[in-house]
Amino acid sequence: MRDGGHFGVIRKPGTASGTTVAFRQVDAGGRLRPAAEPDAGGMPREARDALAPPALARLCEALQSIPSRELRFDLDGADSAGLALRLVKPDGEAGTFRLEWRPSGEQDEYRHRLEQRLAFERLIAALSTELIHAQDDCLDALIERALGQIGRLFDVDRAYVFRFDGARTVQSNTHEWVAPGVSPEAANLQDVPIDHFPWLLEEFRAGREVHVPVVAELGDAARTERQEFEREGIRSIVLVPFGEQGDPEGFIGFDSVHRERHWPDDILVGLRLVSQMFLNAFRAQQMRQRLGMMAFHDPLTGMGNRRFLNDRLAHAIERCRRDGGSLAVVLIDLDDFKLVNDSHGHALGDEVLRHIGARLVAAVRASDVVARLGGDEFVVVAATTGLDPLSQLVERLFAAMREPVVLPGVAYTARMSMGIALFPDDGGDAGTLLQQADTAMYAAKGEGRDRFAFFTPRMTEDSRKALRLRHDLGLAMARGEIRPHYQPRVQLPTGRVLGFEALARWHHPTDGLLMPGSFLGLARQAGLVGRIDCDMLGHALADLPRWRALDPACRVSVNLDAAYIHDDVLLRQLEEQLSAAGEAAACVELEVTECSLMRDIDRSAEALGRLRSAVPALRLAIDDFGSGYSSLAYLGRLPVTTLKIDRGFVAGLAGDNPRGARAILRSILELGAELGLHVVAEGVETQAQADTLVELGCREAQGFLYSAAVDAGQAAGMLQGSRSR
Ligand code: C2E
Ligand code: CA
Ligand code: CA
Repeated sequence: MRDGGHFGVIRKPGTASGTTVAFRQVDAGGRLRPAAEPDAGGMPREARDALAPPALARLCEALQSIPSRELRFDLDGADSAGLALRLVKPDGEAGTFRLEWRPSGEQDEYRHRLEQRLAFERLIAALSTELIHAQDDCLDALIERALGQIGRLFDVDRAYVFRFDGARTVQSNTHEWVAPGVSPEAANLQDVPIDHFPWLLEEFRAGREVHVPVVAELGDAARTERQEFEREGIRSIVLVPFGEQGDPEGFIGFDSVHRERHWPDDILVGLRLVSQMFLNAFRAQQMRQRLGMMAFHDPLTGMGNRRFLNDRLAHAIERCRRDGGSLAVVLIDLDDFKLVNDSHGHALGDEVLRHIGARLVAAVRASDVVARLGGDEFVVVAATTGLDPLSQLVERLFAAMREPVVLPGVAYTARMSMGIALFPDDGGDAGTLLQQADTAMYAAKGEGRDRFAFFTPRMTEDSRKALRLRHDLGLAMARGEIRPHYQPRVQLPTGRVLGFEALARWHHPTDGLLMPGSFLGLARQAGLVGRIDCDMLGHALADLPRWRALDPACRVSVNLDAAYIHDDVLLRQLEEQLSAAGEAAACVELEVTECSLMRDIDRSAEALGRLRSAVPALRLAIDDFGSGYSSLAYLGRLPVTTLKIDRGFVAGLAGDNPRGARAILRSILELGAELGLHVVAEGVETQAQADTLVELGCREAQGFLYSAAVDAGQAAGMLQGSRSR
C-alpha cells in the first residue's frame, strides 16, 4: 500500500485445494519478500498480527471462490477488529473484503500471555527468597519444585538443570521435572563429556541462551545437538546457561515434545534470572558444605570427627525411634599403636592412621557411619537387624586389619579391641551408647586385647560362638571335616533299601558331630553352601560304586541349595562333575526344595532344563513338597522326576487332624501318579504311618522307622542286609 505498491499477495498454489497459502509481502517496487524476514517492512502492527496463520487461513477461505492463482490486495483499513482488504483481480476489477482477525479466542490468548507473565514474575520473586533461606538438604527438592512450577506455567514437557563438574569436563542432569506421561531422561544424562555438544558449549561460553523454536530446523553446525534432541523426542527447546561469560557452570532447560513453541523475549529474561538464582544457591551450598567439612571432619584422616559422630548418631537414633530399627555402636581402639608412634615417629604414625581409617570405611556399608574420635580411637555406627549381620560386621572389621599396613621402613599389623553397645538395648541417647561402648571396649582389652565385647556380656558369648563357627567353617571345608551321612530310602511295604540320601555332617574336632541345622545357615551367609553341596556330590559319587557293586540299581540323592540353581558358575561345575561320572550319573538324584524352586520359577525351570539336557539320565526331585505352595500349576513346567512329600504331612497322620493329612497325602500321591513322577514319603517314624502310606498307594519312604543317616560303611552293610532279606 506504500507508494502505490500492494500491501500483500496471496498465492494460491496450482493445486485447486487452496489449503496451502504462502503469504509474501510486497515492497514499494512490487517485489516479493519472504514473510519471515525480520520486520515486516513497516506494516501496521495490527495487520501483522492479523496475518497469523489462522487469520490467513480464513482469508484464503474467503478468497476460495476466486479462480485466480495470485491475488493482490491493498489494505483499506485496519482496526482492532479486523482488516478491510481491497482485492485487485487480474481483470482489474476490485472487490472489497473485510477480514475479522481477533475473535474472542485470541483475546483470551492475549490475556493468558499477560497472566502467565505476571505469574512468572511472582514465582521468581518467591523463589528468590526461598532459595536464600533454603537448608542444604532441601535445596534439591526446592529446585525441582521450581522447575515443575515453571514447566507447568509454560506448559512444557520437561524442565531441568545441568551442572558442569569442577574441571568443566563433564555435565550431569542434576535436577529434572517431567510432565505426566513424559519419560524422564536424567538417568541417561550423567557425566556426559561437555564437548560432546560443541555447538551448545560455544553458545554457552559466549553467554548466549539457546532458543530453538523448531528443532528440525537446526542448522548443520548443531547437527550433534539436533540428533540428540530428536533422540529424546524434543521438538522445541530453550536452554539458558549460568556462570560467568566464558566459563559456564551449567544451564537450565525446557523441552517441548508435543509441539513447537516460541519463547517471548521477556520470558527469556526471566529464565536468565532463574538460572542465575540457581547458581547462587549452588555456590552458597558449596560454601556451607566446605565450612561444615571443617567443623565436622578430622583433618588428619578426612573422616568424620567427634562432632560429626554425635550429630549422625543422634540422627540415626531418631530415625530408629520413628521406624523401629536398631543400631550398633562399635568403638574401636587400636592395641599397641603407641609403639608405632614411639618407635617410628608421629609422621609415620599419622600415615598408619590414615590407612587404617580408610580400611574401616571400606569395610562397612556406605550407609554406616565411621568417625575418628582422636588418637587411635574410631567408631562405627551401623543399622543392624540381628546378631548374625552384626557378627558379620565385626568379622569384616577384623578382616580389614588382617593385612599389615606397609609403609617405607615399617609393616604394622593393627590389632584392635572393640566394644559394642546396642540401641535400644543398652542406651537411648548418643552419649550413653558411646559410654557403654567404651566400657565394653575396656572389657575386651581386659580379656586380652585383639577381640570384641558387647556391653551386654551374654551377647558377647553367643556372638563369639557364631563368629568362631563361621571362621572354623572355612577351615573345616579345607580339612574335609564336612562329610555326608546317608539315610536309606526304602521300598514300601517291603522295606528293601533302594538307595540313600546324602546329608551333610560336620565332624567338628572339639564339638563333635554337628547337624546341618547348626552350620548351613552360616554357610549360606558366608557363600559356602554351594561348595558344600559340590563336596557332598563328590563324596556321594565316590561312595556309589561300592554300593552299586552290591546292587547295580542303587541310587544316591544329594541336596542342592537354591543358591546353586541360580548361579551359573556353580551350575556348570555341577554339570562337569556329573558328566565325569559317566553312566553312574543315572543313579544320582538331585533334591531342590520346593520353596527355593519357586523363588524364580522361570529361571529354575531353565536351570533344571539345562542340567537335564547336559546329563539326560539325571533325576531331579522336588524336596519338602507341599510345604506352603498350594499352586500346583507350575509342576508341569519343571523337568522333575520325583516328589518328596514334606515330612510334616506324614507327621500329621498322628496329629490332631489325621483325616486332613490323609487327604493331602492322597492327593499328592494321585498327582504324582498322574504326572508319572516318583513319590517318596519322608519322615516315616512309625509302622502305623507306613501302613497308611501303603494303603494310599505310596511305594517309597524314608524315615527313622527304617534308619537315621549313617556313615558310608554302615550304609553298605544295610544295603547288603536288605539284599539278602
Ligand atoms: P531334608 O533334605 O528334608 O533331609 C531330611 C532331614 O530329615 C534330615 O535332617 C534327616 O535326618 C531328617 N529325618 C530323616 N528321617 C526323619 C524322621 O523320621 N523324622 C524326623 N523328624 N526327621 C527325619 P538333617 O540331616 O538334619 O538335615 C536337615 C536339612 O538340612 C535337610 O532336610 C536339608 O534340607 C539340609 N541339608 C542336609 N544336608 C545338606 C547338604 O549337603 N546340602 C544342602 N544344601 N542341604 C542339606
Ligand atoms: Ca533332602
Ligand atoms: Ca525333605
